[in-house]
Amino acid sequence: MVDVSLDGVTKAFGATTALDDVSLDVRDGEFFTLVGPSGCGKTTTLRAVAGFEEPTAGAVRFDGENVTGVPVDERDVGIVFQNYALFPHMTVGENVAYGLRFRDAPGGASRDERVAELLDLVDLSGFEERDPAELSGGQQQRVALARALAPGPSLLLLDEPMSALDARLRETLRRHVKRIQRDLGITTIYVTHDQEEALSISDRLAVMNDGRVEQVGTPQAVYRAPESRFVAEFVGDNNVLDGTVTGREGGVATVDVDGETLRLATPDGSAGDRVTFCVRPERLIRDAASNRLDIDVDTAEFLGETTRVYGTWNDRQVVVRLDDVPETDTLTLGFAPEDATVL
Ligand code: ATP
Repeated sequence: MVDVSLDGVTKAFGATTALDDVSLDVRDGEFFTLVGPSGCGKTTTLRAVAGFEEPTAGAVRFDGENVTGVPVDERDVGIVFQNYALFPHMTVGENVAYGLRFRDAPGGASRDERVAELLDLVDLSGFEERDPAELSGGQQQRVALARALAPGPSLLLLDEPMSALDARLRETLRRHVKRIQRDLGITTIYVTHDQEEALSISDRLAVMNDGRVEQVGTPQAVYRAPESRFVAEFVGDNNVLDGTVTGREGGVATVDVDGETLRLATPDGSAGDRVTFCVRPERLIRDAASNRLDIDVDTAEFLGETTRVYGTWNDRQVVVRLDDVPETDTLTLGFAPEDATVL
């Protein structure tokens, strides 16, 4: 397999800067996700790795070797796009075999053996003779995945492969893709605008915004310790608040927010400094000993295991997670000083 690095990659399309000095290291065998809102540069990054786009500046390296000018078909990558684009006039087996048009099957296998092996890998054994039109969207994407993997590439690139599918199919395919990736140990770069998908499928992820990388880390690290307001707001629900530091006792700062005093565990800030911080909805709890907030309930969404409650605290929108739908119009909740993350 291969590790991939982008070193100061910039890509301009006329006056539009699609990528602005993007540097990333994707490790050998890793499932790495690029996530961010529409237009932030995810696809352009993936296309630069694939070789469809030549960077305006910077370099793409595979195992340390500069591949910036190397054409797509010499990069040893398998690619699956959003619109799975199986050939409708070919059977499933022929579609998978198409992945082998430039290369023999790895390990000296015959074409038919390799096709059968790949269909088995994506749980579609025996589907060789079917027409793509006879398959569900999720099955078609699995065939597209089998086709991309047929020549045994050392890098797999997936650009929103699930976005055309309904929620349930997406979840199933997500598990499939993750299992296959783990079984093969293939370095994978995955593009999605769906932060929940990114959190659930990745070993590590990069949150992108406006052509730049905002933060890279494991799903847990990015979720628990966002480093910017953008990441705090984009990844998961969040309560982003700001106030002014009024004092400090050791590692705990007292902060005035709209005339109320809150305590935050942070080494940052001294009296008079403005501070922005966030608190995850599930960290706002009923029996907190500190930082109590009186929240007016606006709406509650019952989600089964949990309920998402939108409310207002001092004219600020807040979001809370509870076990059940609240029975009162107001809630008094609090959070521990160490459950606030200063941005
Ligand atoms: P989406 O989730 O909507 O696919 P994205 O994060 O993948 O978005 P890109 O497709 O990489 O974003 O686009 C980044 C920026 O570059 C956008 O402003 C887009 O309009 C612009 N862009 C991308 N490709 C081209 C092109 N071929 N010509 C001109 N501008 C382009």
